[in-house]
Amino acid sequence: MKRETKAQRAARVARILELLDREYGTDYRCYLNHETPWQLLIAVILSAQCTDARVNIVTADLFKKYDSLEKFAGASLEELEQDIRSIGFYHMKAKNIIACCRSLLADFGGEVPSELSELTSLAGVGRKTANVIRGNIYNIPSIVVDTHVKRISRKLGLTREEEPEKVEYDLMKVLPEDHWILWNIHIITLGRTICTARSPRCGQCFLKEVCPSAGMR
Ligand code: SF4
Repeated sequence: MKRETKAQRAARVARILELLDREYGTDYRCYLNHETPWQLLIAVILSAQCTDARVNIVTADLFKKYDSLEKFAGASLEELEQDIRSIGFYHMKAKNIIACCRSLLADFGGEVPSELSELTSLAGVGRKTANVIRGNIYNIPSIVVDTHVKRISRKLGLTREEEPEKVEYDLMKVLPEDHWILWNIHIITLGRTICTARSPRCGQCFLKEVCPSAGMR
């Protein structure tokens, strides 16, 4: 990729955001079905290494059977494992969900906290999950770095990093705060439809004029 001046990069980022907003709108949307903050937290814990579609299938029944934090906190590990066994890593996830819900009740009065340090103190909650909660529930500008965001942010020349936390810091430097939450929403949509991992359709991509990787594999 050609070296860019700061001003050139800022102009290119502004154009990328303009094109994404035009194509996908500026409404916040969450691909994981939920009605309460703790339901979203559980859905995000379940979603590691699993598709959102599969998680939504499982939670449709799960949230009916366990309709309160107390029910998850008091669940039998073996039974919860069976309830979520169609999802990868169900053993670990069931254990984390029970521990996480117990801690929410014991330490946070049954509320999902908004502070990063408090969220990441919960079982099964890493920085990515915490940022999903902060953005989706509390509207706190946060950049969620998942596989699509890492891959496509690199293609767009906005980071060279591999580690999600370093990608997040690079993106914080180049994206305006009002697009931190939207970045994840937009890039997931782009990654699922046009810029897929297997075969990006650069010819049909509305970002091709501002993407240094256009036409490359
Ligand atoms: S131009 Fe190609 S590589 Fe760049 S974002 Fe679009 S599909 Fe992905």
